[in-house]
Amino acid sequence: MSSTEIRTRIRTLLDDWLSAGRFTPTVDCWLRSVDRDFSRALGEAGLLGMTWPVEHGGEGRPNTDRLALTEEMLRVGAPVTAHWIAERQIGPAVLRAGTPELKAAILPDIVAGRAIIGLGMSEPESGSDLASVRTRAVPTEGGWILNGHKIWTTQAHNATAMYILARTSEEEKKHQGLSEFVIDMDSPGIEVSPIVDLAGEHHFNEVRYTDVFIPRERLIGTEGEGWKQVIEQLSFERGGPERALSTWVLVPEVLAAPGLRTDEGALRDLGQVVAELSALRHMYRRIAAALDAGEAPIRLAAASKFIGNGFEKGLIDIARRLVPTPGEKLAGLIQQALWASPAFGIRGGAEDVLLGIVAKLELPRDLSKATPQPRLADPEAQELVELAGKVAGGTLLDVDRSDAGLDRLRSTVEDLGWTRVSVPESAGGSGGSLADAGAIVRGLARLGVTADLPEHLVAAHTGAGLGQREATALASLLDAAVLLGAGEAALALTIGHVIEREQFGAPLAAIPAVKSWIARMRMQLDLAVESYDRALEIAGEALVAAEADDQASDAAGGQHRTANDPAGTSAAGTSGESAPGTGISDAQVAAALSAKAIAAQAGGLVAAQTHQLHGAIGITAEYPLHHLTQLIWATRDSGTSEHAALVELGRLALAGGEPVIWDHLTDSAPES
Ligand SMILES: Cc1cc2nc3c(=O)[nH]c(=O)nc-3n(C[C@H](O)[C@H](O)[C@H](O)COP(=O)(O)OP(=O)(O)OC[C@H]3O[C@@H](n4cnc5c(N)ncnc54)[C@H](O)[C@@H]3O)c2cc1C
Repeated sequence: MSSTEIRTRIRTLLDDWLSAGRFTPTVDCWLRSVDRDFSRALGEAGLLGMTWPVEHGGEGRPNTDRLALTEEMLRVGAPVTAHWIAERQIGPAVLRAGTPELKAAILPDIVAGRAIIGLGMSEPESGSDLASVRTRAVPTEGGWILNGHKIWTTQAHNATAMYILARTSEEEKKHQGLSEFVIDMDSPGIEVSPIVDLAGEHHFNEVRYTDVFIPRERLIGTEGEGWKQVIEQLSFERGGPERALSTWVLVPEVLAAPGLRTDEGALRDLGQVVAELSALRHMYRRIAAALDAGEAPIRLAAASKFIGNGFEKGLIDIARRLVPTPGEKLAGLIQQALWASPAFGIRGGAEDVLLGIVAKLELPRDLSKATPQPRLADPEAQELVELAGKVAGGTLLDVDRSDAGLDRLRSTVEDLGWTRVSVPESAGGSGGSLADAGAIVRGLARLGVTADLPEHLVAAHTGAGLGQREATALASLLDAAVLLGAGEAALALTIGHVIEREQFGAPLAAIPAVKSWIARMRMQLDLAVESYDRALEIAGEALVAAEADDQASDAAGGQHRTANDPAGTSAAGTSGESAPGTGISDAQVAAALSAKAIAAQAGGLVAAQTHQLHGAIGITAEYPLHHLTQLIWATRDSGTSEHAALVELGRLALAGGEPVIWDHLTDSAPES
């Protein structure tokens, strides 16, 4: 069963429940909407614990399949709270390190949708500083005795079991001596008191534990190693689509609202939704794949939560702008969303803490270990980036930027055959993929030059038969590569600068506000990388293939295949004429435009903030930062500008409506 089949199965179940009026779509459904019957129905349908091994009731599926399930449920605001935490993170933590007895005790209930498990982490004195927890589990015959006070425990009043992070020994460092447990909620000594939130709702609680006996087999993993284990668990907790989709239920209501604005500003807002979520969603996919590989993608999980929380909050304002006078239902949903929204950037790790995590990875305590220039995931693309950098001069300062020097660079690029990379050899090109072409462009842009390569590449493709619409998409994709390269280099230069430059007796890199800006820039560039990689994935190959097909079909008598006409039987196809602009689907165009828009926004942030962090030196002609920032500013507005890309995305979204937007975002459009 593939992701597509899972999507179909969950959509069928959701449609049944919705049409029978068995739930009302709600904002923030994964935290506030308990329906035990719904969770059991998912269990009966075999949709819970699908990533787990068969012997524990799962099907050994990848986390990317589970992503398809969770995002479909969040899309319609389904009542998923009862099983959410148990299935998302406690089950996987127990699977990884639980005792056989613990596995047997809780995993079957989770896959059946019967377990409601709370997260006993936070305490009155331990919020962001989780390692400071005081709840104590003292060894006793056959286990431990637990005493302590937890707070903000979601659904503790409904829980069948509770995860507990407690101190099991006093050590020199607060991160040591912590252990993880799962206890039954009917154990004697547990007292749950409700906390009502600003919306008047009761979803979280205070929980006091007095002399609660924890049997030995209820320990997860190794005694005293709880901190390391909980950090791994946080990737599951932070890296999922619930961190962006809490307010998605507004979207169909907004698009169906009578007073919906459709002017350019409104289209731009809609375009922003599509561009940003498609990039975020690719990030969730990457995180899911990393979890499958047994990795703990800490930086990406933090980045995806930070950006996702901004997205789900931003969606409320976009809804308010798009429908200035909403009807009763939409107004109600907007109010629900607003009242839920202050929690988004707090629960699961406060926004500022996430910035701190990313900054710490970018700027470690030993600053000599900072790694300013990110390596590309694909080793071949990385080699091309490096080679392009060498060809352009080696370092930012070594590039000969005189007219003659730039002419020489253009000639070298031409002589190397780079102006025809990704054009099929059968069409007179140098072969290779668009990913290769993009890597070369990115490598040059890291040195603040392009050698007009993007323009040459578009011209070479057009000469080989590429249609106008495809050429525009290609240009946007290559612009994104320029923006990424220049943005990455500007950030790297700035990281080097804040490490070296001292003020107030310490490097600038030690100042919290400076760290925070470094983290914001890194996260936005991470998002732009996702958007770009997604565009390459879904549109890049299609552009190259379209040309190869054109060549082949011309040779074979003019059959012209298109995305909507795979057999090549349409009028354009049978006529034997080239049909410019018909070989690329709306979704592929949207992916390329999204890549441009998100890279332009990341570039804009980087250009502004890297100058700020450099102070006066950065605005001198002598210092090389401006070679990068000027390239960013120019590229943002060249070709299809950031604004035009967003407006066009909005137009496509408006024409398709929520179902088409969703299929595009989730790559789940029915195959034509
Ligand atoms: C709706 C909701 C549900 C929750 N559910 C659970 C649950 O089920 N189980 C559970 O254990 N917890 C839960 N929590 C608690 C949540 O994890 C904490 O609220 C969170 O970790 C922040 O802790 P705090 O509220 O004590 O804020 P504090 O730690 O006091 O921080 C307040 C603010 O100070 C700033 N700040 C703090 N530390 C730093 C830092 N190092 N760097 C920069 N700025 C900083 C930030 O702006 C932060 O927002 C929930 C919270 C909410 C809102």
